[in-house]
Amino acid sequence: MMRPSDIGNPPYVARVEKIESDNRNNVKVRVRWYYRPEESLGGRRQFHGAKELFLSDHYDVQSAKTVEGKCIVHSFKDYTKLENVGAEDYYWRFEYKAATGAFTPDRVAVYCKCEMPYNPDDLMVQCEGCKDWYHPACVGMTIEEAKMLEHFVCFECSEDDFKQFQNGFHASPVSDAKVESKRHKR
Ligand SMILES: [Zn+2]
Ligand SMILES: [Zn+2]
Repeated sequence: MMRPSDIGNPPYVARVEKIESDNRNNVKVRVRWYYRPEESLGGRRQFHGAKELFLSDHYDVQSAKTVEGKCIVHSFKDYTKLENVGAEDYYWRFEYKAATGAFTPDRVAVYCKCEMPYNPDDLMVQCEGCKDWYHPACVGMTIEEAKMLEHFVCFECSEDDFKQFQNGFHASPVSDAKVESKRHKR
């Protein structure tokens, strides 16, 4: 964590690549910046979590005196497995090109009827049929209702179940085609 240029702003986050001193014994750190979503060209989007950072291709040399403390920038997978998220826990899932605003990867899995990438700050429920994840609000539930649920089957899957029941044991070709057309990536 490094002191921001404006005192009111949150600290900058960087990965220290090298520590060295110059010929006058000033200690310098070579850093690779993490960008917060609001610092990126595209700005913060709905699926960006509060603790999300982008690993940029922007390097700098700074005085070691600007270092304020330490934090942990987890991989996205590790972050989603944390039992408790502390103030020092952050994550990254995208690399970011500071000059062009491009992200790597430029495609990620999307979920729910709203087809959004996963925001780990938002509660989602998993359908036992299609295994897709849904935001409670997108399937007409409150967060409190979703937390109480022991089982969840989405509307499409409960309709498919009903059709299979009507058609007998074998699913019709129509319902097979429907399952195959479900998109999980874009
Ligand atoms: Zn949704
Ligand atoms: Zn489903």
